[in-house]
Amino acid sequence: MLDTLRRIVQDVNNAKDLDQALQLIVNRVKEAMGVDLCSVYLTDSLRQQHVLMATNGLNPESVREVRLGFGEGLIGLVGQKEEVVNLADGASHPNYKFIPQTGEEVYHAFLGVPIIHHRKHLGVLVLQRHAREKFDEDIVTFLITIAAQLAGAIAHAEVSGGIDLLHQGQGSKRSAEPYKGQPGSQGIGVGVAFVLYTSAELTAIPDRKIDDIDKELGVFRQAVAAVKVDIANMISSLATSLPAEDKALFDAYLLMLESDTLINGVENSIREGNWASAALRDTIAEHLRVFEEMEDPYLRERGADVRDLGRRILLRLQSGGEKKPSHFPARTILVGEEITASMLAEVPVEQIAAVVSGAGSRTSHVAILARAMGVPAVMGADIPVARIDGKEVIVDGYRGQVFIDPTKAIYDEFNRLAQEEKELSADLAALQELPSVTPDGVHVPLHVNGGLLSELVPTEMMGAEGIGLYRTEFPFMIRDRFPGEEEQYQIYREVLQSFTNGPVTLRTLDVGGDKALPYFPIDEDNPFLGWRGIRISLDHPEIFLVQLRAMLRASEGMNNMQLLLPMINSVGEVDDALAILQRAYRELVAENSAIAMPKVGVMIEVPSVVFQVEEIAKRVDFLSVGTNDLTQYLLAVDRNNSRVAELYDALHPAVLRALIQVVKGAHAQNIPVGVCGEMAGDPAAAILLVGMGYDSLSMSMANLPRIKWVVRNFTTSRARRLLSEALEFEHAAKVREHMNNVLEAAGLGGLVRAGR
Ligand code: PEP
Ligand code: MG
Repeated sequence: MLDTLRRIVQDVNNAKDLDQALQLIVNRVKEAMGVDLCSVYLTDSLRQQHVLMATNGLNPESVREVRLGFGEGLIGLVGQKEEVVNLADGASHPNYKFIPQTGEEVYHAFLGVPIIHHRKHLGVLVLQRHAREKFDEDIVTFLITIAAQLAGAIAHAEVSGGIDLLHQGQGSKRSAEPYKGQPGSQGIGVGVAFVLYTSAELTAIPDRKIDDIDKELGVFRQAVAAVKVDIANMISSLATSLPAEDKALFDAYLLMLESDTLINGVENSIREGNWASAALRDTIAEHLRVFEEMEDPYLRERGADVRDLGRRILLRLQSGGEKKPSHFPARTILVGEEITASMLAEVPVEQIAAVVSGAGSRTSHVAILARAMGVPAVMGADIPVARIDGKEVIVDGYRGQVFIDPTKAIYDEFNRLAQEEKELSADLAALQELPSVTPDGVHVPLHVNGGLLSELVPTEMMGAEGIGLYRTEFPFMIRDRFPGEEEQYQIYREVLQSFTNGPVTLRTLDVGGDKALPYFPIDEDNPFLGWRGIRISLDHPEIFLVQLRAMLRASEGMNNMQLLLPMINSVGEVDDALAILQRAYRELVAENSAIAMPKVGVMIEVPSVVFQVEEIAKRVDFLSVGTNDLTQYLLAVDRNNSRVAELYDALHPAVLRALIQVVKGAHAQNIPVGVCGEMAGDPAAAILLVGMGYDSLSMSMANLPRIKWVVRNFTTSRARRLLSEALEFEHAAKVREHMNNVLEAAGLGGLVRAGR
């Protein structure tokens, strides 16, 4: 069963389009279940109908012709109830509807299973039999499993062509329907999609047009030749240790590499103007289909060799210089299954218009980086990555929507929005010179978060009073080895010099989690619960010491540096880190540096220290709450997982209560406490943080003007009142709704739209 299931899912993922995928499903399921009919209906929500999309058992002519209204027939019943309907005799059910077009014979047994993706009803998978007998539990559970597994693939195929197919003949192919994701960085980006992929995974390869066919043929032949050499080497190196029959496996590889069908298939596709990688993708997929249709299980398994061979050639193609394309469009919309911060760093800043990532959410580092750079981003987007390279794209970073090949009306609408956006920024820019003080005279210093030097340059212009979080990992991430003390010294010195009128908070290295260093791979099942932040620094004092020395040296004569320790989970870690800092300090003093000991703070981002906040506060000079991680760990919601992004909300009552506990603990020990997670830049949340008594807020520069507006428009007593109102709610969504209403009423509707 599991094998059948795996093969079906694989086929569907390899299918060329939705039609082919659905036909494969019905053929395979019918055969595997030994039933008389299998059909699949998809939901056309525009017309409120279920449309027959593929069948094995009904008249094929009726595909796309048979449409049942919502609630109509047994299909409608499954759709309406969103549950399994298993009947011994469907025809005698009151909801049964006979449709002559289908050429339906007398089937009795009926099994309908809804196809649901992210709570959305996509269609119905149906089995029927002549016999008058309910389906066995085995078959029911298999069909449920298949429907659940296929839902994602269908949802994907549907947005990338299915809807258009359903509405064939309804005019332009250009789209008014957006693909949905999470808002990652606000703003609107218009440009041309450039797809970046990460691994040698054939299915992730995008289409890309080429001009120089001969050159591309050469590139492909070179890759094939290189793989041949690889395999020949492998065979000879295994000569003594491998039994003859296993070596034959590699002979088969070599035979395949010589085979006309494979080589010609790719070359013909290249001649049609596709680049070698995509030509290879298609040819391998075709071969795979042939193998997987085979009856003989041994031959079917050879499919794995074909796939493996495909990957080997692909790797060779990529190492042939195509991995890092340098021809980014003038207005690049960077698209990928999973765009990372380092990929974003690959695109020249002046050419990047927006980012669209299939994975991740607004607290992924690439989203944070995008916000810092003022680049709109949509995360966790359900997009057909392989099909959009080179297409015109509009990215709405406010709502988390992506329009591919948009209609003119959409273009016009977005141009209008972009104009509005400019006006709102101009209004907010007028606040720059004004102090961040509440109407009842309480000063709430606003700081900025950063990780790139370029984003810190205009800090003073935006009216910030300090740098609340400088993420030192970025300079580490964009290199190919650990930067040395001198190199780090230069960077930190520049950061400290970029802002001399207030504190500049340098955070010690916080890699691990989703922030990998290319030269320091960490392979873990649960990276967010693994080796990250201070844990790595304490385990590698030689690396930590170099960083602390560089920081201390950079602070000489500056008097504005504060140090911040990330991911602390116990007092022991604070003590150990302080001891290493003392050591670095003593070394430098012994070397005659005239440095002062900086203020040291701890990030509160692991739940354990919420409950030990006073013990931590006793040991350091200030605290800074990292709400991105604190929310993730308190709610047990991976901050980068788009599947659960809906559950991630810093306005969750549990997070609010933890934040109150932290501010009380810090103040009981007479030390200041700020917030440096993204929450501080969210207008709805900022009011509550002021109400809780936080001493400073640190955020991406782009959010600073609107937060200043919030500070200047709400007295602390009003903020406290709003906080106690918010604490009455039991759901994050209710808190947010309440706060958004408050902001709307205060005349800041634009911020509500941007607030999440
Ligand atoms: C946080 O966790 O809130 C934080 C500011 O740190 P980072 O986003 O870099 O993990
Ligand atoms: Mg963090």
